[in-house]
Amino acid sequence: MKRFLVSTLGCKVNQAEAASLASHLEARGWRPCLEGQRAQVAVLLTCSVTGPAARQSRQMARRLAKEHPGVRVVATGCDLQADPASYVEQGCETLGRAHLAGLADLLDRDALPSEDILPPPDAGELCPGWWQPGAARSRGLLKVQDGCDAHCAYCIVPQVRGRPRSLPLAEAVDAWQGLGRAGAPEVVLSGIHLGRWGQDLEPRTALPQLITALLEAHPGPRLRLSSLESEELTDQVIALAQEESRLCRHFHLPLQSGSARVLKAMGRPYGPEDYAERVMAASQALSGLCLGADVLVGLPGEDEAAFQDTYDLIHSLPINYLHVFPYSPRPGTRAADMPGRPQGVEVKQRAAQLRQLGQAKRRSFLAAQQGQTLSVVVERSGLGRSANYCLVALDQKLTPGRVAQVEVVGLDETSEEPRPQGRVMQ
Ligand code: SF4
Repeated sequence: MKRFLVSTLGCKVNQAEAASLASHLEARGWRPCLEGQRAQVAVLLTCSVTGPAARQSRQMARRLAKEHPGVRVVATGCDLQADPASYVEQGCETLGRAHLAGLADLLDRDALPSEDILPPPDAGELCPGWWQPGAARSRGLLKVQDGCDAHCAYCIVPQVRGRPRSLPLAEAVDAWQGLGRAGAPEVVLSGIHLGRWGQDLEPRTALPQLITALLEAHPGPRLRLSSLESEELTDQVIALAQEESRLCRHFHLPLQSGSARVLKAMGRPYGPEDYAERVMAASQALSGLCLGADVLVGLPGEDEAAFQDTYDLIHSLPINYLHVFPYSPRPGTRAADMPGRPQGVEVKQRAAQLRQLGQAKRRSFLAAQQGQTLSVVVERSGLGRSANYCLVALDQKLTPGRVAQVEVVGLDETSEEPRPQGRVMQ
């Protein structure tokens, strides 16, 4: 019996790719390697979005080889694409992203290509990605888009994933229906630049058309968007969220900075007021909405005034949680050569200030849920994930994957993240 291991780091797209690779291998008769069993091959989907993520990817490759003596470690994904030599040195077999879509077949035929120079990441077929709800996860994942050509100054993704490419509508609908038939109560739609979905298709189309088509294609799952650039949170998407109760009122909008000068240096296609305008448009139109934002601190050239602009902008907006990232120089990006990088201690302080602000905003958002009735999907943890992105403690033990209506009757502040207390109504 051929046994495999698939490990991954990084984003939801990587996770979806890893999950569909595993199911492709199982479809060919391979079996996942369980505790105490010996795997023939271990595939590692690496991440390169930050320096620490790249280091962790290489450490994981070493650990796989150490924990599974004699196993073939096949490294692939973003960090491999960025720096294959680092994995060759460790004795890994390497596979460029261009071949990822066909990896299960290549492994099955023992026909991994050996390449001194990797082909461009977008040279091959778009790699599928979906995750059916099951033992590890209650909510489904569906990758519908890959790549990006925005070339933000700090970002290595365009180099390692290539140009934007969309999963054709018919294939997206097929995959969605498959997840619906598998009983997925929710599907997280993911992409590297999700808002670019459809722009490369013939005929050209766009994300609102995809959302409408998926919700019509199967009545089961509710739909959550993983992340959206603020300029792609169009009035059409907001209107859809007003009309469609199955489109989760939760948008994660990368901001990165609140300083017009720093946004310009980053090459972000909006200014602070454009971002604020989209945030206000959505929060005024959608009651109960949860808005999250990514913020990057410490880009070269970010001074105290620029940081204060970021802090003040976020403070002034109805944003409900933050993901704060200290700047991490990535090889081959414009920012890597920019002068004026703030000191590490300054960056740490700024990140801590923003995290504190983010926690305060999160706490007041969670507190505001009291008295509300929320529709939650029961997670493995027994907590309920609401459409507006709260994790609710339930007064009953319910089966993971079940959808329940709960009334929020309190807020438990004993854990790091305050927890709404839900009374299960049905
Ligand atoms: S939009 Fe910018 S930050 Fe996002 S993946 Fe593309 S280049 Fe990277």
